[in-house]
Amino acid sequence: MAKPFASSADSAAKEQTLEVLAEGVYALTAEGDPNIGAIEGEDFLVCFEALATPVAAQKWLATLREHTDKPVRYLVLSHYHAVRVLGASAFDAEIIVSHEITRDLVAERGKQDWESEFARMPRLAEAADSVPGLTWPTLTFADRLTIDLGGDRGDLVLQYHGRGHTEGDLTAWLPRQRILFAGDLVEAQAALYTGDAFHRDWAGATLDRVKSLGAEQLVGGRGAVSRGRAEVDAAIEQTRGFLHVMIDQVGAVHGRGGTLKEAFEATHAALVDDYGQWPIFEHCLPFDVSRLWDELSGIERPVIWTAERDQEVWAQLQG
Ligand SMILES: [Zn+2]
Repeated sequence: MAKPFASSADSAAKEQTLEVLAEGVYALTAEGDPNIGAIEGEDFLVCFEALATPVAAQKWLATLREHTDKPVRYLVLSHYHAVRVLGASAFDAEIIVSHEITRDLVAERGKQDWESEFARMPRLAEAADSVPGLTWPTLTFADRLTIDLGGDRGDLVLQYHGRGHTEGDLTAWLPRQRILFAGDLVEAQAALYTGDAFHRDWAGATLDRVKSLGAEQLVGGRGAVSRGRAEVDAAIEQTRGFLHVMIDQVGAVHGRGGTLKEAFEATHAALVDDYGQWPIFEHCLPFDVSRLWDELSGIERPVIWTAERDQEVWAQLQG
């Protein structure tokens, strides 16, 4: 009998906490479940990430509406993963923004990713049949897009830093308040999902660029808000450290002609003391190691995950 996905056995609801990071800047954290945010413009809202379903997003919007009733002009999606984007219809946003590669990825693999992620993480797929279809960005960019927040609120700068957690991640940066919404490029005390990642780019130039912004507060993809430069840098270096351990361990086994299973076991052993207690560690690691193995084998772009392939890899490595 195969062991179920770690997260499919994880059914306890997480507590959501709305934090006001500066005037008109909000983060909702959820004990390791996906984080989301919102930024007030003078007469509109920018929302960051959409959660997995419209029903899940409605609950967040109800909390946000205790603070502001401005309409959502922009919904910004950090990347294409289903648990971040499929709640989009609840926002009734005028404009849905992503990196241009994210739009291509939705077209190429959005359907398969939806099926894969909802089977992997059923707790997040609350009222799964409320999702009306794939979420399509209506405004995309390649390097940078600046949103003038109006009044004296300054700018919100959306930027691409290179390949990382996916091929098309963006961050949202408030230069005046020095607050960064990093999406899944940075995790604070949560394990990394790297099943669609470019490990070496991410651990190198991409995180260097994120770090060079000099954020004073950082909202990662999961985990607590990092406050102060020391905590921000620690979250970035923790993310990089996880990637480096993976690259070293999987690289060593791959280099000596070992097996994927051996690479998984070596990586698990190397990470479990420092990272094993953090959310989604056991769940992600088989998919993470599998992708890195492919990357080291010269498979440039991540192989599309399907519900069937998930089961095969899980059974091979965690079964
Ligand atoms: Zn993701």
